[in-house]
Amino acid sequence: MHCEDTNCPFHGNIVIRGNTTEGRVVSARMDKTVVIEKEYLHFIPKYKRYERRRRRLSVHAPPCLDLRVGDEIIAAETRPISKTVSFVAVGKRGQ
Ligand SMILES: [Zn+2]
Repeated sequence: MHCEDTNCPFHGNIVIRGNTTEGRVVSARMDKTVVIEKEYLHFIPKYKRYERRRRRLSVHAPPCLDLRVGDEIIAAETRPISKTVSFVAVGKRGQ
């Protein structure tokens, strides 16, 4: 599927550079933007146990990827697209 999105990494002219990251889509309600969340364990030496921490990241979602809540995606860093978005989704994990 082809899309008209200028910020699409496949059909637009956005240049990806820098970091890549992975996460699970937790919100797809914005226009061409999704929120991904990553959960990780942080060790607390005093109690010798791990606590769960999570980090959220706004990611540009090109229409051709058709991202839904629950999708595991890979995002790559770009120039800032808006105030909070400087990553763009480049694919789903395991595809
Ligand atoms: Zn596209």
